[in-house]
Amino acid sequence: MKKFFNARLYYYRNLKHYMLMPIRNRVGLLALSILFSCSLVLIYGQQADAAVSAQDLQKSLAVQLFYDPLLKTGYFLKEGNYLSFAADQPYLALDFRQIVKVSAPYHREGVLLFPPDARRAVENYYSAKQKETEGKYSVAAILIDPGHGGKDTGAVAELGTVKLFEKNLTLAVSKRVIQLLSERYPNRKILTTREGDSYPTLDQRVEMANSIPLKPSQAVIYVSIHANASFNKNAKGFEVWYLNPEYRRTVVDATTVQEKGKDIAPILNAMLEEEFTTESIILARKVYDRLGSLIGDASPGRGIRAEEWFVVRNAKMPSILIEMGFITNPEEGLLLADSVYLRKIADAIYNGIVDFIEHFER
Ligand SMILES: [Zn+2]
Repeated sequence: MKKFFNARLYYYRNLKHYMLMPIRNRVGLLALSILFSCSLVLIYGQQADAAVSAQDLQKSLAVQLFYDPLLKTGYFLKEGNYLSFAADQPYLALDFRQIVKVSAPYHREGVLLFPPDARRAVENYYSAKQKETEGKYSVAAILIDPGHGGKDTGAVAELGTVKLFEKNLTLAVSKRVIQLLSERYPNRKILTTREGDSYPTLDQRVEMANSIPLKPSQAVIYVSIHANASFNKNAKGFEVWYLNPEYRRTVVDATTVQEKGKDIAPILNAMLEEEFTTESIILARKVYDRLGSLIGDASPGRGIRAEEWFVVRNAKMPSILIEMGFITNPEEGLLLADSVYLRKIADAIYNGIVDFIEHFER
C-alpha cells in the first residue's frame, strides 16, 4: 500500500509542484495553457480541418476540374486518374472503380465546398498517385516538329486551283496535336520547334530536342511531321519512320563514360542504342496503327520504315518521322487540303502518342 502510494506520489510530482505554487502563478499558468490549447485547435481547424472549395482543391493539387452545375456532378482529373463526385452525395468514386464514403460536398453561396474528410480523401488519392509515378520511367516532354517552314516550303503541289505547301500542312496538324497533348498532360512539357511560319535549321531543331532538361528516369518523345511528294502521281499513302537500328549514335554522354571507364563505354552505348531504337519502333507502331484506323479507308498504310533521318538521328530520345500522305496524288492531295482530314490525322498522331506513353509508363 505504501509502495503504491509512493508510486502515485512519483507520478504526480509535477502536479504537486504545481499545487505548491503561489495561487496567483497557478491561475496564470492554467490560463496560459487553456489559451495555448485553444489556439492550437483554431490553427489546426483552419489549416487542415476546414471545408475547401472545389476550385481551391483544383489549384492546390494542380488537377483539372470538370463540373456540371445542372447535374451537380463533376470530377477531378490528373494524368488519366479520375476522381468523381456529386453535390449532396456522401461518396467519391476513384477511377470509376472504387467508392469511398465521405461527408457530401455541398453548395454554399454558389460555391461547391468539400468537407474536411472529403478534402483529405481527394488529397490522399492524388498524393498516392503521385508517389506511384515518381521513380517510374516517365515521358517528361514531347517535342512536336512541324517539318520545314519559312523560306523552306517543303514539297509543293498544284491540284487544279489548289496549291499545297508542305510547311503549312505540317504546321496545321502539329498545332492540333500540341493543343490535344497540352489539354491531356498539363504537367508535362509539350514543346514545338516552330509556332509560326519560321525556319529553324535542322541543327537548331535537334539542339532544341537535346537541350530539354531531364532527370535520369525521364524521357522525351520527338515527333517530326511531314507530307510526301513524288513524280509518280499514283503514289499515295502514309508512312511512319524510325531511326535505323544499324546507326550507332553516341547516346552516352561524356561524364558517364568517364565515371564508368572507357572500356565499357561501347557496351553502354549499344545498350542505350538498343533501348531507344526499341522505343522508337513501338512509338512508330502506335502512331501507324492509329493512322490506319482513322484514315486507313482513304489512304493506304505504306508501312513502318527505318532510315537515318538527320532530323532525329542526334536526338537522345524515342523519335519518329511521319509522312502524312502524298500531296502530289490528285485524290490524296485534295484530302490533305481539307482541314477536317488534317484534324483526323492530328487525332491519330495524338492517340498514338498517348498509347505509347501508357505503354512506356506501365
Ligand atoms: Zn518534309
